[in-house]
Amino acid sequence: MNISILGSTGSIGTQALAVADDLKGIKDITVKALSGNRNVALLEAQARKYTPDIVAAFDEKCASDLKVRLADTSCRVLSGEDGLIAVAAHPDSEMVLSAIVGFSGLIPTMHAIDEKKDIALANKETLVTAGSLFMDKIAENGVKLLPVDSEHCAIFQCLEGNRGNKIRKILLTASGGPFFGKTYDGLKNVTKEMALRHPTWSMGAKITIDSATLMNKGLEIIEAKWLFGVDIDNIEVVVQRESIIHSMVEYEDLSVIAQMSLPSMKHPIQYAFTYPNRLPSADPRLSLKDIGTLTFSEPDEDTFKCLRLAKEAGRQGGIMPTVLNAANEEAVEQFLDGKITFTQIGDLVEKALSDYKNITNPTIDEILRVNQEVRELFK
Ligand code: NDP
Ligand code: MG
Repeated sequence: MNISILGSTGSIGTQALAVADDLKGIKDITVKALSGNRNVALLEAQARKYTPDIVAAFDEKCASDLKVRLADTSCRVLSGEDGLIAVAAHPDSEMVLSAIVGFSGLIPTMHAIDEKKDIALANKETLVTAGSLFMDKIAENGVKLLPVDSEHCAIFQCLEGNRGNKIRKILLTASGGPFFGKTYDGLKNVTKEMALRHPTWSMGAKITIDSATLMNKGLEIIEAKWLFGVDIDNIEVVVQRESIIHSMVEYEDLSVIAQMSLPSMKHPIQYAFTYPNRLPSADPRLSLKDIGTLTFSEPDEDTFKCLRLAKEAGRQGGIMPTVLNAANEEAVEQFLDGKITFTQIGDLVEKALSDYKNITNPTIDEILRVNQEVRELFK
């Protein structure tokens, strides 16, 4: 299978390339195009190892540097949004892994769908911000949409063999993050270093902070609504501290189907690459005897208000998830830059949501405009 990877230098992108290595001789994956932003050294190394036709660095300066570094190869080096679009639209790629972090992934991913590529979707912010347009485009172009987010990959697997049966509830599992059990006051003085220390997953900085505020779970509720056509109120978050059960689906007969594996993103990435087949994995096996105990509890939405805010924005629909996402991306960046405290992330998102009047059925231009406007508020 030929693929393009948007965000190849990130946590998901590098694990996807590792999966492609693992699958050699089992299912050969040829990487036709890659993109990153600023990690020129890694882009160069990836270009030399996987010999794609196109490599794009979003950052113009980094792309110029990369061009010099790859001058002895036949690889085309591109930059900016056009470069990302060229990666997404490579004529020989059958699948595009969308693994850019944040809103920047939206336009290239939409182009990939227009070019009739199957989509392996890690970049949840695109579905949160433009879910309705995104899902319409998937349907119009008749392409497959394979969720890479571990919970959504789990739900997708729990639906296999049950399509057509009514879903009673989606039970979306959450690790609870590094601050599980803390009170709101206890969150006031947490540092960036503490927030970046996730108990069960190793991920990029933005999603790690989202996991600490529980905004990640809120974004995932909205993501699940679009992927599986389930109302926000039928998606229940269950804290599963060990991150072994990646999510569950409850049917009308009250049967609950769960998907389990060790917490490794290589599992959902490989599933997307090999679907509908289940091929051998190079990962360690899950031993339930070694795990011993699986625990379940309720999330605390008063302490972790980002989860509540995301649910509210998801229920309101229209432009509100775009506002939520843009405000959160900016607030997280400010927190990582040391400009605001941890609890201010939720406060700033709340303020942005209360300042905005909803727009129902927003167009792509309205989404782009509001995304920009909300970000300006943070400058
Ligand atoms: P990382 O921060 O590790 O990687 C982000 C990638 O996007 C890098 O390749 C980076 O390039 C690139 N990038 C950043 N900004 C831009 C931009 N403006 N234009 C183009 N490319 C850009 O993120 P993750 O891999 O952790 O996450 C990627 C996505 O997957 C997110 O949406 C996240 O929510 C989702 N996800 C991640 C999981 C994980 O385990 N990591 C789990 C589930 C979902 P460079 O490094 O070269 O600057
Ligand atoms: Mg997830």
